[in-house]
Amino acid sequence: MKQFQSSQSVFDLFVVGGGINGVGIANDAAGRGLSVFLCEKDDLASHTSSASSKLIHGGLRYLEHKEFRLVREALAEREVLLAKAPHIIKPMRFIMPHRPHLRPAWLIRTGLFFYDHLGKRKKLSGSNNVFFKEDSPLQPAITRGFEYSDCTVDDARLVVLNAMQAREKGAQIMTQTRCVSAKREDGLWVINLENTHGQFQIKAKVLVNAAGPWVSQFIREDVQIISPYGIRLIQGSHIIVPKLHDLDKSFIMQNDDGRIVFAIPYLDKFTMIGTTDREYEGDPAKVAITEEEIAYLIKISNEHFKAQLQREDVVSTFAGVRPLCDDESDNPAAITRDYTLSLIQDQADQAPMLAVFGGKLTTYRKLAESAMKQLRPFFKDKMQASWTAKEALPGGENITSIEQLISEVQEKCVGVSECLATRWVNAYGSRVWTMLAHIRKVEDLGYDFGEGLYSHEVDYLIEHEWARHSADILWRRSKLGLSFPADKVAELDHYLSEKIVALDAA
Ligand SMILES: Cc1cc2nc3c(=O)[nH]c(=O)nc-3n(C[C@H](O)[C@H](O)[C@H](O)COP(=O)(O)OP(=O)(O)OC[C@H]3O[C@@H](n4cnc5c(N)ncnc54)[C@H](O)[C@@H]3O)c2cc1C
Repeated sequence: MKQFQSSQSVFDLFVVGGGINGVGIANDAAGRGLSVFLCEKDDLASHTSSASSKLIHGGLRYLEHKEFRLVREALAEREVLLAKAPHIIKPMRFIMPHRPHLRPAWLIRTGLFFYDHLGKRKKLSGSNNVFFKEDSPLQPAITRGFEYSDCTVDDARLVVLNAMQAREKGAQIMTQTRCVSAKREDGLWVINLENTHGQFQIKAKVLVNAAGPWVSQFIREDVQIISPYGIRLIQGSHIIVPKLHDLDKSFIMQNDDGRIVFAIPYLDKFTMIGTTDREYEGDPAKVAITEEEIAYLIKISNEHFKAQLQREDVVSTFAGVRPLCDDESDNPAAITRDYTLSLIQDQADQAPMLAVFGGKLTTYRKLAESAMKQLRPFFKDKMQASWTAKEALPGGENITSIEQLISEVQEKCVGVSECLATRWVNAYGSRVWTMLAHIRKVEDLGYDFGEGLYSHEVDYLIEHEWARHSADILWRRSKLGLSFPADKVAELDHYLSEKIVALDAA
């Protein structure tokens, strides 16, 4: 077996999984001076971390399940993350229509009081009552409700930005590379990896298992030890439809089965509606929305909004599985959304594995800090202090105003439309200048694949953001896939494969 060619003979940390939890831990550890290697079998964020409701939120409904620790931590994280990445995280007001047969108004008001006061809040405004007039997008029977603040996030980009920062701090990040097995030998982990170039081996002092829906399977099958916790895979699906209204606000709808469904403005033209909660037993990589879930989401939307949806209005769908720690709850919606970190080490001289069960996008940074706390005894003198609360993510540096940045981009790059400049700024933040280095006018951007995706940007995404396939660009680095011409996808893939062959040969 080939050894990985690196100046590093033994890494401090080996991380399996390039979802939010894996990259969050890799980033935190690399910034504290540890040597880190992360492998992801597919693309970054290709599973749960790009299939979320895209909220940085306290989780109002978790209050009902008495998850106070989680809600407090998540509420406080909203403003920390907002400051770190204002280009991909935006404040959002949520309107909760009140319908008499649901949770009583006093209970909601009490919940919102806690929501306003449990976590630190400076920028996000508090909750209030609302009364709907005739111009409301809601059904006339819905006359009152509540409004509160949370944030929306580009989930896949949050993952990519953490991976970029980890690399800038010295971590090795390898996508399209599967960890096929790992065993303990002489106090170290000996790890076998596989990608299109073949198999190779690396060694590490600690293994972090952030395989998300595959966490238990990895422990059982690839390491062949007993997993301390079970995992419950709970499917959640969303539909995307033409926008239901012109307000820049989200709606949180309470269904009569007790579930909550969001209708969130999405990419100017659309509304994203979700999520469902159902037990899932298949291969996590093959999860897909069912017709039953589509009908369920349309029904809830139609019960609330004046704009009535039909099945054919659904423009796109996506589904993911929440890898939740099994707390033996009967109700999928009631299983804890909190995370559990489990240190697996039977004897003091044995190489440890830290396994991540559960978690949320919102709490990824705190989860990474907790992981570092658990690993501190293994790196006593080497591990530096926590740093992620204050340092911006790539592109979040030096942003005073998103609008100003958009006009600067239009000034610098002659001929670029406001729409394209806005997409770039909301994706790259202040790193838009790295992407646009040497570009003076739109003609310098090269070939236009469609929808304003030029070969120059594609090259940037290959070089800086691990893009390898069209889906990486169209569905995760951007959401251009929603409008990208179908006949151009093969052309984009062809371009990418030629570029990557050339890159590998270099
Ligand atoms: C429908 C839905 C809605 C949600 N909404 C929200 C929300 O609005 N806000 C919020 O805060 N949270 C939300 N969440 C939760 C959040 O999305 C997840 O907790 C989070 O994305 C989990 O990240 P992860 O890194 O643990 O898993 P993943 O993102 O699945 O990453 C695990 C990675 O490990 C890789 N992997 C597995 N095995 C191997 C191997 N052997 N070798 C190499 N790589 C491997 C996989 O390919 C995968 O990419 C939602 C979840 C769902 C499903």
